[in-house]
Amino acid sequence: MSADKLPPGLHPDTLAVRTGIAPSAYGENSEALYLTSCFVQPDAATSARRFANEEDGYTYSRTSNPSVTAFERRLAALEGSEAAIGTSSGMAAILLMGMGLLRSGDHVVCSRSVFGSTLNLFAKEFGKFGVETTFVSQTDLAEWRAAIRPHTKLLFAETPTNPLTEVCDVAALATMAHDAGALLAVDNCFATPVLQKPIALGADIVIHSGTKFLDGQGRVMAGALCTSRKRVDEVFAPLIRTAGMVLAPFNAWVVHKGLETLSIRVRAQSDNALQIARWLESHPAVDRVFYPGLPSHPQHALAMAQQGGVGGAVIAFSVKADSPEQGRARAFHVLDSARVCSLATNLGDVKTLICHPASTSHGRLTEAQRQAAGVVQGLIRVAVGLEHAPDIQNDLARGLDGCAQIV
Ligand SMILES: *Cc1c(COP(=O)(O)O)cnc(C)c1O
Repeated sequence: MSADKLPPGLHPDTLAVRTGIAPSAYGENSEALYLTSCFVQPDAATSARRFANEEDGYTYSRTSNPSVTAFERRLAALEGSEAAIGTSSGMAAILLMGMGLLRSGDHVVCSRSVFGSTLNLFAKEFGKFGVETTFVSQTDLAEWRAAIRPHTKLLFAETPTNPLTEVCDVAALATMAHDAGALLAVDNCFATPVLQKPIALGADIVIHSGTKFLDGQGRVMAGALCTSRKRVDEVFAPLIRTAGMVLAPFNAWVVHKGLETLSIRVRAQSDNALQIARWLESHPAVDRVFYPGLPSHPQHALAMAQQGGVGGAVIAFSVKADSPEQGRARAFHVLDSARVCSLATNLGDVKTLICHPASTSHGRLTEAQRQAAGVVQGLIRVAVGLEHAPDIQNDLARGLDGCAQIV
């Protein structure tokens, strides 16, 4: 059955498997990979119309490619947006958004707890072009409201955040943005459309790092923006054709296929994460566990309402320690004792990954900045995968059980 002929009203689990483009003349069931940089034109007049955007049709893969189109359609169907546009990475998606929507003199309000490279992109790179950003508390709505100025064009949020899984209220931020004549963009990397649909909550733009859960097996870099058809056609598609941070066809094909299993992966990895988070909370060497699915999480009620009752697959926890040095030594001991988990800084992989944020993602901050962000030396992030949960618990226990000996 051609993807173009799907009946209306299908469940997201069906859309995740079935949405895409029509098969080629050969009728392949698994989507074809269009690994080509250009497309042969039937005649010169058709070519001219296609280049002038007067007729649909592929010309060159910086402009569009069928494997990329297939991924964009499937992701838009899952996010509930009119359209999507693929990019070479998650950061490229945020770059494309900023280049498309902001100009010199504009102002942005952004959560202080967003992904580290996102902080740098807004503060340093966009700052060079006269776009000013005010960073505010992830959870204090009054601080967001107070930061809005007459030239504020964009509110930018990420929920839950990395690594402390802080949750912000997307619907409240959307109302605030729209009252100020601004747009709300939400980085939905951690929750994915399986748990949270920011467009339905009022957001205007959803950002994805396809590198994480959308691929799901840690193979390729990819990104995307999901938003209105008009914004894609009139702003982002012409811009990406000029600026070139396009999604490679091979990577698009990998994440397109990844979306087929997104729902079962995210749910199963989240089930594992809840089990591991509860166990960590009861371990005598653990100080605090940060996981939206636990009643001890400061925004537990909001997270459960906003994420369909599921906490996600990323946990952070701190080991008990009397000093930052001891915290670091104990965290390193836990990391170095693991024999199943991978010591790596990605997330959303079916393999469980553990990392030490204070010396990796937050390594370039000063100790004072890290303390302010809550990224203490004893903090460990676990991006939970699909292994049997007790095997992961035993792997973490290997190090945790020996922490008291490290003085
Ligand atoms: C990884 C990540 C990004 C950046 O994505 P890349 O594909 O690595 O460029 C952006 N936001 C969040 C929340 C991420 O985890």
